[in-house]
Amino acid sequence: MSGLTVTGATLDGTTVGVRCVDGTIEAIGPDVTPQAGDETLDAGGMPLAPALVNGHTHAAMTLFRGYGGDLPLMRWLQEKIWPVEAKLEAEDVYWGTRLACAEMIRTGTARFWDMYWQPEATARAVEDAGLRAHIGGPLFDADGRTEETKARVLAELDALAGSGPRIELSLAPHSIYTCSEELLRWAAETAAERGLAFHIHLSETEREVSDCLAAHGARPAAYLDRLGALGERSVLAHGVWLDEAELETIAARGATVVANPAANMKLAVGGVLPYPAARRAGVAVGLGTDGAGSNDSLDLLSDLKLFALCQRHAAGDATVVPAAEALAVACGAHAPLLRDHSLPGAVKTASELLAPGAPADFLLLRGDGPELGLGELASDLVYAACGSVVDTTVVAGRALMRGGAVEGVEEIVARAAERARRLGVGI
Ligand SMILES: [Zn+2]
Repeated sequence: MSGLTVTGATLDGTTVGVRCVDGTIEAIGPDVTPQAGDETLDAGGMPLAPALVNGHTHAAMTLFRGYGGDLPLMRWLQEKIWPVEAKLEAEDVYWGTRLACAEMIRTGTARFWDMYWQPEATARAVEDAGLRAHIGGPLFDADGRTEETKARVLAELDALAGSGPRIELSLAPHSIYTCSEELLRWAAETAAERGLAFHIHLSETEREVSDCLAAHGARPAAYLDRLGALGERSVLAHGVWLDEAELETIAARGATVVANPAANMKLAVGGVLPYPAARRAGVAVGLGTDGAGSNDSLDLLSDLKLFALCQRHAAGDATVVPAAEALAVACGAHAPLLRDHSLPGAVKTASELLAPGAPADFLLLRGDGPELGLGELASDLVYAACGSVVDTTVVAGRALMRGGAVEGVEEIVARAAERARRLGVGI
């Protein structure tokens, strides 16, 4: 079977080739050469790196980039975001997601975890863009419409059932403070029955913790556990205020926590994910951007720097997260659910993700540029680089970007801007 073969790439100081067949790495190493019929790509010595995994975002919120960004969280949601979201059409979500995908391809992300309205439009955009995504329409019933929400989500799951191999589905309750206990239990049960992920915002603000204690007599993770919602397919975005007992429970249940340092700092939640304690407890940790409305970038390499810096700063300890470990977190190496649970064996480092049988999701980097030209690659990637160092993005064995240019980006930006103006948020 023919595929894509990349030749002349540099990995850990060695010149290697990578052969991709059917979306998977078939072979990687110094002796790998193209087979008859393969498309070939000469890396010209560029460093090879695994693609990044954005563990939490709301892709179509690119439409709301720069809109009400100086307001505090609840005023931003109530006065700006929720009123325009009430007017959303499928085409808005489609073009907002295409814009997000273009930005993620340009900055080296191959796979993202999404929570947003009209997930069929998100799936169509992801299919057209060539990325991989885990998609779930958000669940809310703070307005008391529990049954309508369940019916909508079941209809969305049915409509998405025929999605291609690059798309997986989740149940995505927005949070413990916008969903009733009944809806959370139902979402957890439905996710378990169907073998789907359960993706939720958890412990983002201190007030969420105090309200949860007052309403349920338990902290947020303990409350979710009581509802049967913590398991190996649970993804908890934020986790800023998790305490040690909650982290132990999360580790014991095999759930994953996703740090979103840029959004946390922009929304001034007053803390960071307690990463050292999470690691000590054995929690699977990934990195996310959150939506463009609250970040406002989807450049995960930029957020990787923030992640490493805020952890060092919060701990008062410059050794708390070595660069290679931070990079591995951004590639999903420490969170099997986020990347690809089919990858054989335990993975500790970023380059172990590049192995036969692994998804063919990788990057070629501008190794001779100012950011990566000197010094140790992992350290440069974390502290000196941003997404502009990515030259080539390969996802599922297909080059979605070569030479730093994403095909069709001008039209995507123009169409997204048109949709934003239609919603009244553009200029
Ligand atoms: Zn979010």
